[in-house]
Amino acid sequence: PELRRLCVHESIGNKIPKEGFVEAFDELSIPVELVGDDETYDETDAVASFEPRPEFLDAGWVHVIRAGYDAFDTNAYETERTPLTNSTGIHGTTVGEIGVGYMLSLARMLHIYRDHQNDGDWYEPDYSRPFTVEDERLCVIGLGTLGQGISERADALGMDVVGVRRSGESVPGVSEVYHPDDLHDAIADARFVAVAVPHTPSTEGMISTAEFEAMRDDAYLINVARGPIVDEDALIDALDSGTIAGAGLDVFETEPLPEESPLWDFEEVIISPHRGSATNQYHLDIAELVAENVRRYQDGESLKNRVA
Ligand code: NAD
Repeated sequence: PELRRLCVHESIGNKIPKEGFVEAFDELSIPVELVGDDETYDETDAVASFEPRPEFLDAGWVHVIRAGYDAFDTNAYETERTPLTNSTGIHGTTVGEIGVGYMLSLARMLHIYRDHQNDGDWYEPDYSRPFTVEDERLCVIGLGTLGQGISERADALGMDVVGVRRSGESVPGVSEVYHPDDLHDAIADARFVAVAVPHTPSTEGMISTAEFEAMRDDAYLINVARGPIVDEDALIDALDSGTIAGAGLDVFETEPLPEESPLWDFEEVIISPHRGSATNQYHLDIAELVAENVRRYQDGESLKNRVA
């Protein structure tokens, strides 16, 4: 059956303005409704949501407004034959810029200068401390949308970019692609290691004590993907003991990051509140993807970014 309405679940308010998102569908062929938890669905409904709800399984198609759909039970969607789509493909620029932003800041010490600026302190660092990212090696783990967004930008800055990818296929701007089995070789010589894989059973905890030990002691970890991919206790130990130099982190095991987390207190850790993809245009990028899939659904074409 054809879709008769697009239901926008209020949980999208977590990431984008609700009204602005609904308005972005001005020219959609079906009406758009903002719905809460009291709504029921049938197969003529499309749903766009941030959070999962069991009743979405009754809809004709469900879109996760995030790239990471680890909160959704893909098995249930497959059993119920409800198509599930996600928002991958639109975060290369936004998260890519955040990744490069951490690296430039950590290298040129912008975060430290701002710390001192807060006290009106003209702080002059040790001569040996600042460095350029140019010619430094970056290892990007996972070369999908985020991974390529970071690598392209790092390559443009003259960095030596290597990566880890299951297929081993080459990627523009990445000088060497390692297989995940050779992760330790891939990260051993990198000044920056960036995590850009989805959170799955096989990536959970993939960066832990052994990986920090394999890294250089002047290396920085960048995590813009999902908190649980990095063993956070092991990261705190590695930072405490100087096994690595620092980190740029947008994602955490528990979000918001608890006030008592030691991560807040490291001078060489930059924390952003899982807003790597956030810009004033984000709702428009998502709406464009959803509108394209509404069109495909109505025309009987296969949906873009189908994950179940
Ligand atoms: P994507 O599907 O385009 O890319 C993920 C890549 O990782 C794919 O190429 C996949 O083959 C690869 N991969 C999976 N498992 C791997 C493994 N074990 N080893 C090596 N590579 C592996 O997805 P994306 O849009 O790049 O997003 C990646 C993840 O980043 C999402 O799942 C999401 O959790 C997270 N994310 C975070 C933000 C943020 O705001 N910080 C924004 C978007 C996405």
